[in-house]
Amino acid sequence: GKTPIETDAVIVGAGPVGLFQVFELGLLEIKAHVIDSLPSVGGQCVELYPDKPIYDIPAVPMCTGQELTDNLLKQIEPFGPTFHLGQEVTVVQKREDGRFDLETSVGTRFITKTIFIAAGVGSFQPRTLKVDGIEAYEGKQVFYRVKDPSKFEGKNLVICGGGDSALDWVLHFAGKAESVVLLHRREEFRAAPASVAKMKELCENFEMQLLVGQVTGFEANGDVMTEIKVTGADGVTRRLPLDYLLVFFGLSPKLGPIADWGLEIERRQLKVDTEKFETNVPGIFAVGDINTYPGKKKLILSGFHEAALAAFGAAPYIFPEKKIHMQYTTTSPKLHKILGVE
Ligand code: FAD
Repeated sequence: GKTPIETDAVIVGAGPVGLFQVFELGLLEIKAHVIDSLPSVGGQCVELYPDKPIYDIPAVPMCTGQELTDNLLKQIEPFGPTFHLGQEVTVVQKREDGRFDLETSVGTRFITKTIFIAAGVGSFQPRTLKVDGIEAYEGKQVFYRVKDPSKFEGKNLVICGGGDSALDWVLHFAGKAESVVLLHRREEFRAAPASVAKMKELCENFEMQLLVGQVTGFEANGDVMTEIKVTGADGVTRRLPLDYLLVFFGLSPKLGPIADWGLEIERRQLKVDTEKFETNVPGIFAVGDINTYPGKKKLILSGFHEAALAAFGAAPYIFPEKKIHMQYTTTSPKLHKILGVE
């Protein structure tokens, strides 16, 4: 295996709270590695509502999920965190020397003095099609994410789902693909009304087709899926030939491997104290939506506060000799130096 990275702090999750954890650790001169299972940072803000306005970030009257994330990235820039994206933390184990072994799904390994779990509602996994045997075609003809849109141009596409992702891709591929069929289980859509109207207009112009129904089976010729079977609201099953099936049923969070790390869990959340936001395992802290304590509110501003106290709680593990004082960023020459604003 690869040589483990030795570090003072690892943050699991690059949502808003994980990002702000970098800042609070940075002020105490603790450098962090940040890991996220998603390919980009921002957590729920970017994955679920990048363009929606947030109104309750203190002193920011309004910003979108994406803007909040961009601002946090800018704010933590002085601390040069190292990001490890597209990999899930799978293993966390206490070592005999008091530190932790940590490992990700792609084999990146760390030896760290402290861990900050900022895993939100868990790692996001796309909801999959429940059709026997269809998993064999995943990544070949069945996709839950579009990484390279050009792959699908000039092909016969069936796109499943009724939310923004499904509609956005339908609108993207209409005219670029050989044919586009949108398949949704009912007449009503969750997507933006403007996108739905645009889609209906394309249907009227015979540039694509809308089908109401669900995938209930498929036919294959050797290794190649040739058609799917679609059962409509009328109970009739029809055959639909295709090259690719793109499925956007939304993401569902899974607590996943976090459940196996020996941490006290209450209703899918990690129990922490409210002094340091430390779990039952000394050296492992939990901040943001993933934690629970009396009075917990799943708000970004609460997560920011938790990150500040967790950083102070963790400092003694990293600097056992040092007395840690709270300082103001406004007036402290030391913090100015750390922030690079002198
Ligand atoms: P998350 O944002 O959930 O990020 C956690 C990250 O951890 C994810 O990226 C995930 O992939 C990663 N992760 C999980 N497990 C692992 C693992 N094992 N390995 C690697 N990575 C992992 N809050 C407000 O304060 N104001 C609002 O107006 C507001 N509006 C909202 C609107 C909507 C539609 C939604 C869904 C939420 C809203 N919220 C709002 C809630 C807010 O988004 C959350 O409180 C916030 O995102 C929590 O941040 P977090 O960093 O704790 O977790």
